[in-house]
Amino acid sequence: MNPGFVHFVGAGPGDPDLATVRARELVATAEVLVYDDVVPAAVVAWARPGCEKIRLERGESSPTADDVAALLVERARAGRRVVRLKGGDPFVFGHAAAEVRRVAAAGVPFAVVPGVTAALAAGACAGVPLVQCGTGTTLILLPGNGDPAPEWRRYGALPNTTLAIYMGLENLRTILAELIAGGLAADTPAAAVQWVSLGRQRSIAGTAGGLAELVAAAKLGAPAIVLVGEAVRHRDAIDWFEHLPLFGRRVAVTRARDQAGELRRRLEGLGAEVIELPLVEIRPYRDRETTVDVLTELGKYDWVVFTSANGVRHFFDLLFQGFRDLRALGATRIACVGEATAGAVQALHLEVEICPATASADALADAMIATGGLDNVMVLVVTGNLNRDSLVKKLESARAIVDRLQVYENVPADLAREPAADVFRERGADAVLFASASAVRAFAAQAKALQPGPGAKHPIAGSIGPATSEALRRAGLAVDFEAKTADLDGLIAALLGKLAGG
Ligand code: SAH
Repeated sequence: MNPGFVHFVGAGPGDPDLATVRARELVATAEVLVYDDVVPAAVVAWARPGCEKIRLERGESSPTADDVAALLVERARAGRRVVRLKGGDPFVFGHAAAEVRRVAAAGVPFAVVPGVTAALAAGACAGVPLVQCGTGTTLILLPGNGDPAPEWRRYGALPNTTLAIYMGLENLRTILAELIAGGLAADTPAAAVQWVSLGRQRSIAGTAGGLAELVAAAKLGAPAIVLVGEAVRHRDAIDWFEHLPLFGRRVAVTRARDQAGELRRRLEGLGAEVIELPLVEIRPYRDRETTVDVLTELGKYDWVVFTSANGVRHFFDLLFQGFRDLRALGATRIACVGEATAGAVQALHLEVEICPATASADALADAMIATGGLDNVMVLVVTGNLNRDSLVKKLESARAIVDRLQVYENVPADLAREPAADVFRERGADAVLFASASAVRAFAAQAKALQPGPGAKHPIAGSIGPATSEALRRAGLAVDFEAKTADLDGLIAALLGKLAGG
């Protein structure tokens, strides 16, 4: 029997793009994912549907290393691929070592995957070269709430040293006073950086003597890294992250949870804090009878037509539930509407014969007819629940024999249970972006659940193009700006123009 495996994996400091390639692969193939509540939701979202996800809350009732290890061992012994995700690096103040020891003692095979720890990310994202020749030749990582506490005075006496203090805000006043009592010059530069690497990163810089005061006044809270040492002086010249054009701006985007976070990534690259409002959830849809009919006679179709990347994903999920081998598709030819759809097919190393430049049902049908007529040709159209029938009708009028297989459905997401919706209700946003008319409809349908609370910032609304703007007006919503070209570049340029101006 498959013995199972436990991977202890560092998820990095927060920005999902800073997780390792291996972390991403392991999360995407895990059968059981056990993660701390600090692990970013975007990383957890890499898990495939059907993965058992176990979130460990911190606090009074948080499970002990014994409890967690017992869970890991039990799942692994059942033959499952288990991933234990930790924030940052598993072996940097992560309490993972105790779990690893117990898993090792139980004889369960395991491996540890490093991650970018918060101190290193703080150096990069707050403009502090942590160790280099000259200033700061030594880097020391310290726990601010250690028990027993580090001998702070001893660390205050070390020359040319950068101190990176984790979990240090609560005792900051005492820690800095002790360092100074140990010999650290009170005017040594020091900084506290909260939510490192994320759009909501905030940092406060000062001196060892004055930082505690500044942090208290700014109400900076956990999670934060405190950096102390001459290296912090460089930040004035090389701090880049907090100067990004959208830094400090909160932008809500309306996207289905399962769709690639291209817009999110682009906005975060410009420094924005992005709230992804999962207005619509994409769920697998199975009509048993049709599915069985189609799958058992898959070979009879001349063409399979995909109209969305979600359709591609869910179709192949379905296919692989029934067959082990991609060749079950036979010699069927493939046509797609839209570049993203074609990309999803090509990712499987399958050839897309037709993908018209205009992503419309008409253009697709015309292109298929142009291949030599559709008279009595068998076509399978793979859809969700929102696809209009125009494609099927058009193909049928060209005398094709068309079967339709619905593999997924769009349903409104339950926003009462969505952390992202909470952030939107409580804090609002500078802007909300609409990249399609269907996103507008989903937003309007959920408007009640998205009412900004007292004190929340009321966002301006931006649209990707005329059709989306029209949908906004029809829903009774204002259009504050519209992209000049109807694509993500255009939408982002319009947002930059708007927010940079005000
Ligand atoms: N294993 C983690 C650290 C866990 S201890 C790592 O390697 O980063 C938790 C502490 O890490 C927090 O109190 C804070 O001091 C620090 N931390 C983790 N993520 C952080 C972030 N995004 N920004 C600032 N500090 C962070």
